[in-house]
Amino acid sequence: MNLKELKKYKTRRLNLYMQLFFLGVSAATPTQDRNLSSFALRLDSGEILLFDAGEDVQRRFEAAKLKFNTPTTILISHLHGDHILGLAGLLFRFHLNERTAPLRIIGPYGIASFLLSHYHFVGLKAIKYPLTLIEVQYPKIDTLPDQMMLTHYNYFLSENIHRHVIQHSFNDIFVNKDYRIKGMWMDHSVPTLGFRFEEADLDGKFDPDRALELKIPKGRLWGIMQDGQNIELNGLTIDPVKERVVTEKRPGRIIAYSADTAVCPELIELAKNATVFVCESTYAYLDEDLAKEKLHLSSKMAAEAAKEANVKQLILTHFSSRYKNIGTLEEEAKEIFQNTRAAKDLMTFEIKLD
Ligand SMILES: [Zn+2]
Ligand SMILES: [Zn+2]
Repeated sequence: MNLKELKKYKTRRLNLYMQLFFLGVSAATPTQDRNLSSFALRLDSGEILLFDAGEDVQRRFEAAKLKFNTPTTILISHLHGDHILGLAGLLFRFHLNERTAPLRIIGPYGIASFLLSHYHFVGLKAIKYPLTLIEVQYPKIDTLPDQMMLTHYNYFLSENIHRHVIQHSFNDIFVNKDYRIKGMWMDHSVPTLGFRFEEADLDGKFDPDRALELKIPKGRLWGIMQDGQNIELNGLTIDPVKERVVTEKRPGRIIAYSADTAVCPELIELAKNATVFVCESTYAYLDEDLAKEKLHLSSKMAAEAAKEANVKQLILTHFSSRYKNIGTLEEEAKEIFQNTRAAKDLMTFEIKLD
């Protein structure tokens, strides 16, 4: 393995720090304490994945001390106002801050049109940083008239802005060396994506004492073994896992997010074995009929889904403004799935490795 290859292999680090920041936990209308829906996942590299962008998200973004100029992916579940109206404000803020870091926006088809209108009227004209829009096409409905929009798009899209439309069922929407993002269509009144972030498997733990015991010289060979690769030494092939120099690779963490949805099989599939499942819980158990009627979940429904999907941690969010105290919703969910927390604005949650 040459140096270049080695460098490529050295990209996975141990004990990567991963943290969630809840920026808004309210459904439909904000309350005194609760902003509209949004939360961020910050990776060890500093990269941010922002899930939904409810109104005024930029203010919470700042309060959470998240950086405005760092590589970011924004994932929009659907085009209802309480999940998207903060997006333009955030982009405007990026513009004012003279952002240079790349930005990726992923959402259901139509999100480019939404941004296009802001481009014309609100001053998003000077996007200087690389922006990639990925629109996911809903399979069951006719989409917007692309031909009519084309002229506008050509004007809108510049060398800094790239747009892709992808056909999609339950496939990867985006993959890189550190993680993959899957999306799944949920059951709501408009096309709504649930997102599943899957971290790539992590290198096993390296035991330097064991390496020295086997008389393997420090340096390049250690690096190769840390990546779980066999080495050649004195004509012998050494498998670092078999020789207990390195533990087996550790499975990466999974964060699943379901925004607005009714109970559906996709909800379980989305959350299957997730390390953390962030799930809407618009209603309390007493109002479960309303939840069914409006294609939302109650606390109990979210907890039942978490249990069936065998997740480790459930975090409830997207609470109706009718509830002053969301402690009741947390208690209801805990009766079914003990490892539940109700999110609050500016709550953080560290996602540890096993
Ligand atoms: Zn909503
Ligand atoms: Zn909605």
